[in-house]
Amino acid sequence: MSPLLRTRPLTSLLLLATHQCLLPSRVFVNGAALPADENGWTSVERPEPPVEVDVVVVGGGYSGLTSAYELHQAGLSTVVLEAKDRIGGRSRSHQRESGPGIVELGATWINNSTQPAIWELTQHFGLETLVQYTEGDEVLQSPDGQVVRVPPATGEEEESPEPEDIVAALINEAVEEVDIRQFADFPEDQDVSVADWIALNGLWNESGIPELLSQMTTTIVGREPNETGAHYFFDYIKSGYGLESLGTETEFGAQFLMLAEGTTALARKLADAMTPGSVLTDAAVTEISQDDDTAIVTIKTGKKFKAKKVIVAIPTNTYSDIKFTPSLPSEKAQIVSNTMPGIYAKMILSYTEPWWREAGLVGKFTSLVGPIRFSWDTSNPALSQYSLAVFIAGDVATEWHALPDEERQQTMIEHLAELVGEDLADYALDVLEVNYVEWTKEEYIWGGPTSAMAPGMLRQYGTALRESFANLHFGGGETAYEWKGYLEGAITAGQRAAEEVVEALGSGGKA
Ligand SMILES: Cc1cc2nc3c(=O)[nH]c(=O)nc-3n(C[C@H](O)[C@H](O)[C@H](O)COP(=O)(O)OP(=O)(O)OC[C@H]3O[C@@H](n4cnc5c(N)ncnc54)[C@H](O)[C@@H]3O)c2cc1C
Repeated sequence: MSPLLRTRPLTSLLLLATHQCLLPSRVFVNGAALPADENGWTSVERPEPPVEVDVVVVGGGYSGLTSAYELHQAGLSTVVLEAKDRIGGRSRSHQRESGPGIVELGATWINNSTQPAIWELTQHFGLETLVQYTEGDEVLQSPDGQVVRVPPATGEEEESPEPEDIVAALINEAVEEVDIRQFADFPEDQDVSVADWIALNGLWNESGIPELLSQMTTTIVGREPNETGAHYFFDYIKSGYGLESLGTETEFGAQFLMLAEGTTALARKLADAMTPGSVLTDAAVTEISQDDDTAIVTIKTGKKFKAKKVIVAIPTNTYSDIKFTPSLPSEKAQIVSNTMPGIYAKMILSYTEPWWREAGLVGKFTSLVGPIRFSWDTSNPALSQYSLAVFIAGDVATEWHALPDEERQQTMIEHLAELVGEDLADYALDVLEVNYVEWTKEEYIWGGPTSAMAPGMLRQYGTALRESFANLHFGGGETAYEWKGYLEGAITAGQRAAEEVVEALGSGGKA
């Protein structure tokens, strides 16, 4: 492709394509010209020529946008095709109706030391961060429904270890052993579900352990312990620096910082930094066909895009919505049909005042009963935005999704009122605004925070997950080595896929 064409904005490519269609020309069928009508038009509809770019990126989430941004920086022409009417994918910041500020319906937290890629981007685009609120007691509900208030740990507790401490220690030990880059090394006899693995270690029948494990796996990957592969679970935990990192809001915790403008602001900054008109929404890809050096990508309207390379940056469970010609290699196809989008919903309850803070609570409500599984304080006091983000996951979420619309929100509010106790219940019930997304019902995504793997899948097919297939390269958070299921993983996977393409095509398309 000439340098001129490479730097031409996509909008002008689209105009060029339209203009070419306006020129009357004659259509031949079996060597004979069809008669033209009096205006010089034929009665046969001709397909528009495909829009031509160096690289098509499928999916306008963080991973796809990062790939396109990197390719743009390298001088390659790109188009991002996003199925939904918005970019950001599993990140979705929503402007509040009852006052200033946003609420996060998908991804929220980042970390400046353990997640360097997203941190670098937020700094590059000058986005402000807020530190997670940490003052006060947590509230825990045990499987029998009993609710207790738990003060912050001092480090001086000398109690004998509870069964949950033993389970956590066991999992931490297994996590230590896992190599997140060598999937085949995981011992085959341990390659069972999390539930079976705990049973192999003689703990499944201990009181409260099944409920505790359900809390852990559904909270972390959105699936129950009997569905989630132990190898996959350990790999996922290690990829996020361990259980403590994943579960905490400390300086090294995954819940340390929030973006004041919302995570979607970063997605928009990435899109705005690229050629105008090169990120298309309402553009669900239905087909990708490829030959030796070209790929043709078709979207639902029938419009076609021709490219030297394609980056597929969508959740692995959604590959099945695209017709690939030739078909994906069998190993990759196995992964597609065996990854399970997490069953997940997130509700933001906004209030006029931070009543829980005033009562000495940090805003962390954990229940082994449900429907609320866990929660965090997501307030921005500078804007008088006071909110709790409550999460529903796994089988509890499946039941909750099936409730009638009006009951769904009420059940959550009433559960919060139960967790805070009689003295604070009225405050919990006095909600200012409710916003939520049932990620399991979101078209083109179908769950969150990630697509989990069943037993055996990672050991057998982990390598195939991110392998390219001729002109197709694979990004998406699920293909990350580190921080899979997080924005950081989506970004690094997008960068890796872009690097593969630049290596193949050369900077500016010069191989
Ligand atoms: C409730 C919730 C809370 C979370 N909390 C956090 C958090 O606090 N911190 C954190 O780091 N991460 C969090 N995550 C995870 C994080 O949001 C994801 O890991 C990340 O957004 C994944 O990015 P992605 O680009 O890989 O995929 P996605 O964001 O899913 O983007 C893929 C895009 O592809 C599009 N698509 C699908 N099929 C097609 C098609 N055929 N044609 C065109 N487009 C298609 C989809 O519409 C989507 O926009 C959370 C996720 C959820 C759901």
